[in-house]
Amino acid sequence: MRWSKSHLFTLKDAPNDAEIPSHKLMARAGMIKKVAPGIYTYGNLALRALRKFENIIRQELDKRGCQEVLMPMVHPAELWQETNRWKEMGDGLLKFKNRNGHDFCLGATHEEVITDYVRKDVKSYRDLPANLYQIQTKYRDEIRPRFGLMRGREFIMKDAYSFDTDEKAALVSYDLMYDAYKAIFDRLGLEYRIVEADAGNIGGSKTNEFQVLADAGEDHLMVCDTCDFAANIEVAPALIKTEKATGAALPMEAFPTPNLKSIGSLSKSLGIPENKLVKTMFFSANDGTDAANPPSKDLKAVAICLAGDDEVNPVKLKNVLGMSNPPLMLTDEEVKKTTGAWPGSCGPVGLTIPVYFDSAIEGFQNFIVGANRDAEHLKNVNIGRDFKVTKFADLRMAKPGHSCPSCQAAGRKGVYKSYRGIEVGHVFYLGTKYSKSMGATYLTQEGQPLPIEMGCYGIGVSRTVQAAIEQSHDADGIVWPHGITPFDVHMVVLDPDQEEVRQSAEVLYRELQTRGLDVFMDDRAERPGVKFKDADLLGFPIRVNIGGRGLKEGIVEMIPRKTKAMEKVKAEEATEKVLELMQLIRAGKLPAAPAKTTGAAAGAKA
Ligand code: ATP
Ligand code: MG
Repeated sequence: MRWSKSHLFTLKDAPNDAEIPSHKLMARAGMIKKVAPGIYTYGNLALRALRKFENIIRQELDKRGCQEVLMPMVHPAELWQETNRWKEMGDGLLKFKNRNGHDFCLGATHEEVITDYVRKDVKSYRDLPANLYQIQTKYRDEIRPRFGLMRGREFIMKDAYSFDTDEKAALVSYDLMYDAYKAIFDRLGLEYRIVEADAGNIGGSKTNEFQVLADAGEDHLMVCDTCDFAANIEVAPALIKTEKATGAALPMEAFPTPNLKSIGSLSKSLGIPENKLVKTMFFSANDGTDAANPPSKDLKAVAICLAGDDEVNPVKLKNVLGMSNPPLMLTDEEVKKTTGAWPGSCGPVGLTIPVYFDSAIEGFQNFIVGANRDAEHLKNVNIGRDFKVTKFADLRMAKPGHSCPSCQAAGRKGVYKSYRGIEVGHVFYLGTKYSKSMGATYLTQEGQPLPIEMGCYGIGVSRTVQAAIEQSHDADGIVWPHGITPFDVHMVVLDPDQEEVRQSAEVLYRELQTRGLDVFMDDRAERPGVKFKDADLLGFPIRVNIGGRGLKEGIVEMIPRKTKAMEKVKAEEATEKVLELMQLIRAGKLPAAPAKTTGAAAGAKA
């Protein structure tokens, strides 16, 4: 591609809504242009990276026997009504009517459509397994689209679905996709972790997320410092040794605590560390998923007790309560109505609602809690004697320094470290949730009809391309991973007005392309400094500076984007040298940068 003939415009400054480096860089490199919040036009460079990534995905999936299909983006409401997700997905699903008044939505995911497709064909066990995938545009009406392609409303996803006769076979399909995802993300050269994730109430039990490690990530991860264990904080087990109660239970006593409404002020005033105090919080166990059944109608209030310095983990709580969504906290008024006191003076004693107790404080004895009377607390409170616990469970957020469950089981000493992650992939064993509700059955060898066992597997294609930039850039611009770089070589033609330079550049441009490289040539009539800056911004793996002065000495300059270590090579050997360097880059064997070489300085000498 010749820049002089391309629709490519780089920007000096990023748009105001670009908060994170990768979004800024993609916008500045002219890769994406916002059409509406969360909706973008992909420029040619972005599309090239997307297509390369899609091809890596295709290769790894096809190799494993998966088949590519393409489903519609517009779905009739009836299919989504069969699984009740027309209601459950709420406003995330963009719904509309056609001219005949029929309801439709834009595809946010394709379990319904693919299950419908498969149920029409599959008759018996002989027709299974099937593993189908597509690479397609999705639409989700995200509440807060942001970070460019990271959380778009319209985005490209690879979604795959497996269909098997039984759980055992479905888990084989799951493992196959798990391996495919590893191969795909390994080929990108990204630093990522496979993490334990929330399986929710979707039916199945097994799920993993593929998370690219980056500070800008929206997900919070607990990653073991010793072994491979990693978990989304939503589900990361919080293991701490709980002390067993050994002493005698003292008589319970009320005492006044005016103005002591927070754990912090209570701790300060009483001189007791926060982690020795017990706080009580209140939630509604009513899912309230539709307008006829809002949580406020039937609160189903529950109390949660945990150590003063711990935080409730809403996903763990959701799972313990058997809900579909994380429970809502009661409002102050609802707490007052439930307990008789305003928040800050509440506790488990005397409540008639279920009390869930965090396992970390199972062994607490003679502790302090709110009295359920304003400005009063109780001391020497004891479990069992003073109130009943409905269930002890791990309800708190894990913290860095907590033991890794895998290490603990193996007698190792690994502990959590905290990371941010970008969820780029998700594998999910679904069980029969969709096949049951949609009547997708097959006949066993004995002629018995059974629901098909399913799995679903997503990769955020557009999100991953941006995640790659988020992880691989420097102060000057993008540093493309070679696997998805829009171009391999960036030729900077320094004196395009000189005929000899133009001709030599043309020869090299064609030779490199003939040898299989994707070549970008900056042949614009711009100053060298402008071109070098743009080359750094666009970030293709190898830059070649070709100019009048260099050619007089018979040389061109070759500069790997990553290290910026300039090498002068003979002009007639340039093609071979670039190919050699590309091979090193692809093999991950690029030598480290020598000190103090900068791209601009290297280029200025040409
Ligand atoms: P998230 O938790 O980030 O909202 P999700 O768990 O809802 O994502 P899945 O249904 O698992 O997403 O979709 C599969 C993949 O699609 C995700 O792993 C992610 O990479 C990508 N993806 C999901 N939502 C978006 C979005 N709004 N913009 C870009 N990519 C997305
Ligand atoms: Mg997900």
